[in-house]
Amino acid sequence: MKKTIYLDNQATTPLAPEVFEAMVPLLKDNFGNPHSAHKLGRQAAAIVEAAREQVEALLPAKGKLVFTGSATEAINLGFGVVRKQLEDGRNKIIVLETEHAAVRDTAISYRELGFEVCLLPVKEDGILFLEELASKIDHETALVAAMLVNNEIGVIQPIEAIVELAHSQGALMLCDAVQGYGRMTMPKNVDMIALSGHKIYGPKGIGALWMKKELEIPTLIHGGRQEMGVRSGTLSPALCAGLGKAAMLCHDYMDRDLEHIEKLSHSAQELFSDWVVNGSMAQRYPGNLNIRKDGLDVARLISTVRDVAFSAGSACASGSGRPSHVLTALGLEPAQVKSSIRLGFGRYNNMDDIEQAANLINIAAKAQSQ
Ligand code: PLP
Repeated sequence: MKKTIYLDNQATTPLAPEVFEAMVPLLKDNFGNPHSAHKLGRQAAAIVEAAREQVEALLPAKGKLVFTGSATEAINLGFGVVRKQLEDGRNKIIVLETEHAAVRDTAISYRELGFEVCLLPVKEDGILFLEELASKIDHETALVAAMLVNNEIGVIQPIEAIVELAHSQGALMLCDAVQGYGRMTMPKNVDMIALSGHKIYGPKGIGALWMKKELEIPTLIHGGRQEMGVRSGTLSPALCAGLGKAAMLCHDYMDRDLEHIEKLSHSAQELFSDWVVNGSMAQRYPGNLNIRKDGLDVARLISTVRDVAFSAGSACASGSGRPSHVLTALGLEPAQVKSSIRLGFGRYNNMDDIEQAANLINIAAKAQSQ
């Protein structure tokens, strides 16, 4: 079978072989419940706690880390903090217009509870207007949520400046770091950070919410009071160990991964030099290249170039059939949104992948215009 060139590393990443090896014994013989008091249980619990430390090693400080089933769940859990803030008369939530649905839709759901939810616009390069945030944020603001790296266009938001503004009014700050965790240093002073296993060469089905030590969040999932009482349910030691190992590898390989991905990105930029880049190039994670070509039918392109896995936008947005709200927020016309593709480079891509994929995509794109 012909190999698929995988250039969709924002949707998900391949499992690192070392992660697979770390998980296997826990799926086979070491089956203990980490919440049991006997020896098998205690062994499983020790594995979970070692993984927690590995994940925390990439976070800004020693805090509280709650394992969840996904980053989406971690974000929903973190948002619960606004219920407590409401008791202090804080009923406003501010998020960026370009947030992933996990943040955007969760924020919007709080309108039903009487919260005012502001979706902040971004500039045409995808970076938020700090002045706009400064004008919206006030002493009634409960929470500001902003992503570190955008999943569709790769732009990096000025999180530390956002935190400063949030804290100046006594609001809390949640950062969706799903596309940045393990790839760059985490911003300081954020109150909560959400991350996901399957974006860092780890397993699907696990994420985490990190929060400052002093922060208390309401229980989202009731039951056996695992995970500090806020997220009940038996943990999977295999998934925890997989996430821990993936975090450890990201820690050890961070510089090497970045250098490798920068080289791939430079080559891709040259090979696609007659396409237009969506979003800032200066403030961008190099593993993302979102580009467009006027008149292109992207759905047709994806079905023609079958041996390359790439995306028309975010995997989630494609699933919903909604046009990308991120590209729309940059001010792109609907036709330009529909003529955009996202290429995502990762640890396991090589220069050959980029050259072959560019060749196939460029030939198919050219054929459409003839
Ligand atoms: N936030 C961002 C920026 C993402 O890219 C994703 C996944 O696409 C998520 C949140 C949701 O992560 P998960 O798949 O772990 O729920």
